[in-house]
Amino acid sequence: MGWHKRQQTKSNDPENPATLADMIQEGLSIFCWCNRCGHNSTVDPVPLTNVLGSFFPVPELGRRMRCSICQTRDITTRPAWPNHGGGQIARHG
Ligand SMILES: [Zn+2]
Repeated sequence: MGWHKRQQTKSNDPENPATLADMIQEGLSIFCWCNRCGHNSTVDPVPLTNVLGSFFPVPELGRRMRCSICQTRDITTRPAWPNHGGGQIARHG
């Protein structure tokens, strides 16, 4: 129980999803996750803008993709934040 405070970013706002243009501007790739088999990969947003346009919302990309392993179309897409997963990034130097 209790409220779990989540990190707030504009990219997490469901009413204002990140677009391909946002990804390019931020220098981010797009993280793709197969909900069936767990296969995942990152893709470059630049070629996608040639097909879908710069303002295509990142969460909608999953509907255009298919898993290369199990061929399902049940794909989740989101920005590939470099610090995803805990924020315990150790840097030396
Ligand atoms: Zn799969």
